[in-house]
Amino acid sequence: MDQRRIWDAVVIGAGPAGLMAAGELASVGHSVLLVEAKPSLGRKFLMAGKSGLNLTKDEALGQLLTHYGDAAESLAPMISAFDSAAIQDWAQGLGQALFTGSTGRVFPEKMKASPLLRAWLARLENQGVTWETRWRWTGWQGEDLCFDTADGPQQIAARCTVLALGGASWARLGSDGAWSEVLAAQGISLAPFKPANAGLMVDWSTHMQAQFGQPVKGVKWRAGSITSRGEAVISARGLEGGGIYTVSAAVRDGADLSVDLLPDLSEAEVATRLARPRGKASLATHLRRTVKLGAGRTALLQEFGRPLPKDPGDLAALIKALPVKHAGLRPMDEAISTAGGILWSELDEDLMLTKRPSTFCAGEMLDWEAPTGGYLLTACLATGRWAGREAVGYLATL
Ligand SMILES: Cc1cc2nc3c(=O)[nH]c(=O)nc-3n(C[C@H](O)[C@H](O)[C@H](O)COP(=O)(O)OP(=O)(O)OC[C@H]3O[C@@H](n4cnc5c(N)ncnc54)[C@H](O)[C@@H]3O)c2cc1C
Repeated sequence: MDQRRIWDAVVIGAGPAGLMAAGELASVGHSVLLVEAKPSLGRKFLMAGKSGLNLTKDEALGQLLTHYGDAAESLAPMISAFDSAAIQDWAQGLGQALFTGSTGRVFPEKMKASPLLRAWLARLENQGVTWETRWRWTGWQGEDLCFDTADGPQQIAARCTVLALGGASWARLGSDGAWSEVLAAQGISLAPFKPANAGLMVDWSTHMQAQFGQPVKGVKWRAGSITSRGEAVISARGLEGGGIYTVSAAVRDGADLSVDLLPDLSEAEVATRLARPRGKASLATHLRRTVKLGAGRTALLQEFGRPLPKDPGDLAALIKALPVKHAGLRPMDEAISTAGGILWSELDEDLMLTKRPSTFCAGEMLDWEAPTGGYLLTACLATGRWAGREAVGYLATL
């Protein structure tokens, strides 16, 4: 490559946010260099595909935005401009048939990311986007962008830059958060990274080994004001899965976690049923017969509730609000996503860094968090598109 060339735009980070930005810039004829530190593009996106690729949630805009907490106001313009319906149109435009599950979650029918990524990269190639892999961005030298590459350091000149470097989990897929030091050195303020959508560590007794790998269904998790009816899986390391991820931010921020093992029955009803004569039946059999508590939920009750109260009323109260004894969240690198990143106050409404004009930012590297359910990709795609479009607007002013 001619290194003296000045690119209209360099997009750094080839996750969903970066790919979206690159497409917006190339679609109006700008020269775009897309740079990725890993040997191939979209590795975390492909990993998201392993659990089916929940692209978005089929929800009205107002409802969708409630899932972004404090960042909802900042994200509103971007998500309004590329909402759930627009994301579905976009994916269908790339030849992906979609389906919406009973809870409103939207997935490709193929339940994986590779066909979508292939079609997306083919479109970018047709639009003239050039990409380099195994190029790690290390910062700026004057106005030039600096990269460590297999062929040694490279310096690239660009009229504008989009940074879409991801959060700080699953470092092996590329999102290692190392960029935060480069930006901090520029005086840009960042909220510290924290795990979001993370599993829980539980120091199980040996009785629980028989339950490893078993799903826990039909329960309601509660941490502070957050509740979740989602499933969890009992693993050797603790509790994982959507039900736990939803409450993990509240747990991280100090809320106690409890689980209602019978959310469809009132406490009074559970107490009445438990008070039926037990005869010689074991407690497990009595629980199964009277309130249909299966093996997994009974094991959790024994694990977290022992010694179990004899009084039916007290046992019912415990079943309805069983304290989950855990040893905190799993390490951040295992989290599905991370909270923290570039503060909104460092960005203008175009997602341009006020301290580094001509540099736009998008995706999980911005300071927002959301539960699983398609909200993560929705915000990454919407901010990537927005940053790309605003970069086009910026180039028009030069
Ligand atoms: C197991 C798993 C399942 C998931 N499932 C879903 C799901 O079903 N639905 C959903 O909405 N979300 C899901 N997510 C979350 C979603 O994948 C992420 O939120 C999303 O990929 C973030 O997009 P991004 O473009 O901001 O960053 P990323 O996808 O993380 O991409 C950032 C890119 O930047 C590159 N990079 C970083 N530093 C540098 C550097 N210095 N130089 C050059 N390149 C660099 C990285 O290598 C990476 O390719 C899942 C995540 C995981 C881990």
